[in-house]
Amino acid sequence: MKLTDEMFFERFPAFFRNREEITNPRLVHGELAIDMGWRPIVWALLETLEADSADMGLDPASPEYPAVAQIKQKFGGLRVYLSRLPKGFYFYIQHAEMCSFRTCEKCGKPARPGWLNGTVLTLCLSCRKDEREAWGDGEWTEAGHLNLYPE
Ligand SMILES: [Zn+2]
Repeated sequence: MKLTDEMFFERFPAFFRNREEITNPRLVHGELAIDMGWRPIVWALLETLEADSADMGLDPASPEYPAVAQIKQKFGGLRVYLSRLPKGFYFYIQHAEMCSFRTCEKCGKPARPGWLNGTVLTLCLSCRKDEREAWGDGEWTEAGHLNLYPE
């Protein structure tokens, strides 16, 4: 299933409540700047954060409730930034980010990060082939130093 931005905004309205507050066009707030492969990871993360917020008695209508500031790809990994983040939530976010280094950012299959035309991408073999062709047979170099899990 393709998880669109709108599906996230509808399912998690409290987490994405600040997405309209874009005052500086260079700052992207509350936008999912990631491809489809990682969206199930983010979805599961937000479900966990929502359940934990409820356990902690946090009110989704309160301005103190956590809010997504930014979700993006950086150096081949998922990055999730929330404001008003309760301390314990960091471990859930870190887990999601670690999973992304083993998950194709395009299709969700098992993957490894690598360099392609000066960018680090985490792609499965099939998506890597497509991406290399799109770049005119661009060279792929394993980005082993980015692996968070020892081999
Ligand atoms: Zn893939």
